[in-house]
Amino acid sequence: MIHKVDDQLRREALVYALRFACPDCASFNEEEQTCSLGFPVEDHKDAQITERSHVVFCKTFELR
Ligand code: SF4
Repeated sequence: MIHKVDDQLRREALVYALRFACPDCASFNEEEQTCSLGFPVEDHKDAQITERSHVVFCKTFELR
């Protein structure tokens, strides 16, 4: 799911420490920088939210 990032979301992401990217997902293989479920990670690996216009959420994200 592609979600637009605006200033309100940037503020709330920082205030509530929102996590949404592969490095914070239980299925992420840090050593290989891949998804253990076999999904492509390119659109989901970037955890920063301050300098982006949109986020591509992964439906299978599970907080580690
Ligand atoms: S399940 Fe989704 S968010 Fe989690 S590591 Fe795989 S691609 Fe990334």
